[in-house]
Amino acid sequence: MIDTHSHIYSAEFDDDREQVIQRALEAGVTHIILPNEGPDSVPRLLDMQAQWPRHISLALGLHPEEVHDDWSNQLDRLEPLLDRHHWVAIGEVGIDLYWDKTYHHQQMQALERQLGWCVDRGLPFIIHCREALDATLDVLNQFRGQMPQGVFHCFTGTAHEVDRIRAVGDFYFGLGGVLTFKKSQLPLTVPVIGLDRILLETDAPYMAPVPHRGQRNESAYVADVARCLADVLSLDLSTVDRVTTANATTLFPLPCQS
Ligand SMILES: [Zn+2]
Repeated sequence: MIDTHSHIYSAEFDDDREQVIQRALEAGVTHIILPNEGPDSVPRLLDMQAQWPRHISLALGLHPEEVHDDWSNQLDRLEPLLDRHHWVAIGEVGIDLYWDKTYHHQQMQALERQLGWCVDRGLPFIIHCREALDATLDVLNQFRGQMPQGVFHCFTGTAHEVDRIRAVGDFYFGLGGVLTFKKSQLPLTVPVIGLDRILLETDAPYMAPVPHRGQRNESAYVADVARCLADVLSLDLSTVDRVTTANATTLFPLPCQS
């Protein structure tokens, strides 16, 4: 299994990061993608990849909640890093209007510039989109004719929203702990997405799946998401593992997973 979205480089894991990796490996998670949040988190990502090069890949981007008045300077700091290290995606990027709409316009501009990096470098995107589907699709639509590939991470939307996204591009959908929540509508959406466009993720330390809901999330728990997905689709866990791993290696330029 691959955890395609995890923030286990963050301070929440400073006391037991080695055990977190060990538990992930024991749970069958062979690879973990770390999307960064802004320039300041990059050294933590690079440290982890140096320590576990076979199991860790990195994405570079400015998280929408890190977009403020200085967003352009922040991107100026990130852009030279594209040439200096190996990145498997631009992320996480996107638009989040859930808590605060102050930087709505700046978030759109930052997303546009970073999607340009995807086009220039042939890299996929990892999009974080919360209460912002219209704005996100507006920005993506500016790339018609040269649309990058990518994933809508932590997707929690409806079948109608899947259709709207697919009208713009044949993207992937990252599913995490929300799938396992009792009142989740996602089990209705999952068959519409189809297993061939689903990626597994945790978004650790957030969004821990049942039976860990409310606790710190970690990459090992992606196995709980996989089991739930297998139940929802009436498939074997091994099929879910095989297909979602293949999806991740198709989308992201990861080291060989066999
Ligand atoms: Zn994230």
